[in-house]
Amino acid sequence: MSARGDEIVALIRNPDHRVDVRTAGAEPVVIGALLVLGSAASPYFAERGVPIEAVSRVPFDLWVPAECPLCASGQALADP
Ligand SMILES: [Zn+2]
Repeated sequence: MSARGDEIVALIRNPDHRVDVRTAGAEPVVIGALLVLGSAASPYFAERGVPIEAVSRVPFDLWVPAECPLCASGQALADP
């Protein structure tokens, strides 16, 4: 980013703090992550106009309880 003349004015770890960044007059431009699990994060942040750059992405299935196919099938919980 600095190569194209942009200046980093803040680094936040909690996405909810982007409001603080905007209040300070800056604009969140990218989410940087070492690892992204699953596919939920990309559309979530895309809707907010902030892409994710990740070193690694790993498929990971996660559902809300009402939509969980394992719960719907009556599958018992197991120790990890
Ligand atoms: Zn479940």
